[in-house]
Amino acid sequence: MSDVDVVVVGGGPAGILAAGKAASDGASVLLLEKMEKPARKLRITGKGRCNITNTKPYNEFINDIFPDPRFIRDAFNAFFNQDIVQLLNEQGVATVEERGMRIFPTSGKAWDVAEALVKWAKINGAKIVNHARVIDVLTAEDAIVAVSYADKEGNPNVIGCKSVILATGGKSYPATGSTGEGYELASKLKHTITPLLPSLVGVETKPCYKFSRNLSLRNVNLAVYIEGKKTDEEFGEMEITPYGFNGPIVLRLSRKIVFALAKGSRVELELDLKPALSHDKLDARILREIDENPRIAVADLASRLLPRDLALEMIDELGLAAQKNLGRLTAEERESIRHWIKEQRFVVTNQRSWPEAIITAGGISLKEVNQKTMGSKKVKGLYFAGELLDLDGSTGGYNLQIAYSTGWIAGKSAAEYVSPK
Ligand SMILES: Cc1cc2nc3c(=O)[nH]c(=O)nc-3n(C[C@H](O)[C@H](O)[C@H](O)COP(=O)(O)OP(=O)(O)OC[C@H]3O[C@@H](n4cnc5c(N)ncnc54)[C@H](O)[C@@H]3O)c2cc1C
Repeated sequence: MSDVDVVVVGGGPAGILAAGKAASDGASVLLLEKMEKPARKLRITGKGRCNITNTKPYNEFINDIFPDPRFIRDAFNAFFNQDIVQLLNEQGVATVEERGMRIFPTSGKAWDVAEALVKWAKINGAKIVNHARVIDVLTAEDAIVAVSYADKEGNPNVIGCKSVILATGGKSYPATGSTGEGYELASKLKHTITPLLPSLVGVETKPCYKFSRNLSLRNVNLAVYIEGKKTDEEFGEMEITPYGFNGPIVLRLSRKIVFALAKGSRVELELDLKPALSHDKLDARILREIDENPRIAVADLASRLLPRDLALEMIDELGLAAQKNLGRLTAEERESIRHWIKEQRFVVTNQRSWPEAIITAGGISLKEVNQKTMGSKKVKGLYFAGELLDLDGSTGGYNLQIAYSTGWIAGKSAAEYVSPK
């Protein structure tokens, strides 16, 4: 005899959606969360504001899902961006659309999203137990029979169940509870884990800028060269850090970079600080400054072209005489300035690691999961949801949408499995 129908392991957005949906479809559901409260990561998403999802249509949305966007089609058909917005609105969380079709809570508080989802799951009948760390999933004849977990005091407990939904998240930001334990649980159940890489993450470069504080840049272009071949570029905002680069366009490029580094490829970045000006236009701009202000110093020209830290760095690196009159700038010096501003190259030596990565790329191999149900092809009654799967998205609400949609369909399928019609 089972104690409950479905045990959901992990109370992130994937687990909460799975628990709420399974319970609303009539299953008795217990969600076990090892931290003191569910959804700790969700509460810090979007710099505390939570980019809930975005309103792009399906055909555009899936362009930002990797490595196999076709896998998520059925889950998105069952529960997509408008559905999570409606669910949250019904729970009293008003939402607003911002630049890039991104949806945020109007309150600007990720916390409100987390509380609303937890409330919704409980209203539907799911029971949530915190401080419950699942240590094993037990099977008999390749079917789920129970889970064992340690409570707050470390005491072992066993709960009989017919179905388990693993939703333990990835390995990034481990302080939120996502420490990658689900991969071990799934491995024990004979599932394959594809290589795990930190993604949506900053990169370390050689050289680095010498100034030791972070500097935000807008309207710059960053191009990725893998083994000397340009493979991608992004325009927008980024951050110079003491170790290399971070910020929005770096995060967007980071997936390609970390996969190339993992293969041992040489990865370089080319930074264009003035992408709106061609080489010729930039040269014309410098010549105009020289023409109009021949007596100002080279340092003044640099500060008119660049933020102060970068201006100083350029003068230092190019060995320019900072106080020399602009009128005495040589053609070679002008050319070196132009190249420095438009074509600086950096070798990527590493990506930043798990504590700083927004997500985990890699996970439970999709080949062993039924995309219509999120069910295991190896163990009856076992389902997966969220970042634990080998599915990841770009920045812009994609990763949370993966979590809600796979959670929803896993919950629905588990409820059907425990009470077939
Ligand atoms: C700083 C930051 C900002 C982000 N911002 C955004 C954003 O704005 N928009 C967006 O779309 N995505 C964002 N993401 C990504 C997004 O938060 C994740 O993709 C999403 O939370 C994954 O949901 P999940 O439910 O699969 O896993 P998680 O949210 O990681 O939840 C997994 C849960 O399982 C629990 N758990 C783990 N092991 C066990 C165990 N053995 N027993 C019991 N419980 C266990 C953990 O404690 C955790 O609560 C951000 C991520 C970070 C780190």
